[in-house]
Amino acid sequence: QYANKIGNLPENIPMLVTNQINISQNEELAKKISVFRGDITTLEVDAIVNAANKSLLGGGGVDGAIHRAAGPSLKEECRTLNGCQEGEAKITGAYKLPAKYVIHTVGPQGEKPGSLAQCYKNSLTIMKAQNLRTIAFPCISTGIYGYPLIPAAHVATMEVRKHLEKNADSVERVIFCLFSEEDENIYQRILQSYFPLK
Ligand code: ADP
Repeated sequence: QYANKIGNLPENIPMLVTNQINISQNEELAKKISVFRGDITTLEVDAIVNAANKSLLGGGGVDGAIHRAAGPSLKEECRTLNGCQEGEAKITGAYKLPAKYVIHTVGPQGEKPGSLAQCYKNSLTIMKAQNLRTIAFPCISTGIYGYPLIPAAHVATMEVRKHLEKNADSVERVIFCLFSEEDENIYQRILQSYFPLK
C-alpha cells in the first residue's frame, strides 16, 4: 500500500528503504545531494572525508591522495590523535587542501554493514557538531578494504538519508565523490531510490 503511493520510485527499491522514507521530505532532501566524479582533494567544501586506516598516519588510495595534497602538517596533526578505531571518525585541519577540514574515518575490511554505517553516521555527527554545512564522501572501504561496491553504496546512501531526515536544516550539501565510472553508474541508480527526484 505504502509503496504504491511512490509512483516515481523503481520497483526494485528495497523494503527497508520504503519503510523509512518520509515522502513529504523527498524533494527537499534530494536537492541537497550531489554526485561528483573525480578527485576529492580538489573539492572546496567544509569537510572532505578520508577513508583512513587505524593509524591515521597515511596509506594508499584516497588516504594517500589526501595526505599528499594537504602536505606534511596533516600527518603531524594526525600523530596527536592516537589513531582511530573501525567505525569511528576524527576531525583535523585540511592545510593545503581547498576544503576547510578533513574527517578521518576507518572503514571495515570486507563487508561489515554495521561498521560501514558507523563511518558515515559518525562523520555526519562531527559535521553537525562543528557547524559544517557541506561534506564530501569517498566510497569508504570499497578500494583496498574490498567492500563490494553496490552493498557499500546502499549503506552510504541510507545513512545519509537517515541523517538528513533528522538534520535537514543543518546540512547544505552532501557530495558523493566517485572515482570510477562504475561507482558513478551505481550511485546514479541507487540515489534514485533513496533520494527520488520528481
Ligand atoms: P579503503 O582502504 O577504505 O578501501 P581506498 O582509498 O582504497 O580506501 O578506496 C576507497 C575509494 O576511494 C575507492 O572507490 C577509490 O577508487 C577511491 N579513491 C581513490 N583515490 C581517490 C581520490 N583522490 N578521490 C576520491 N576517491 C578516491
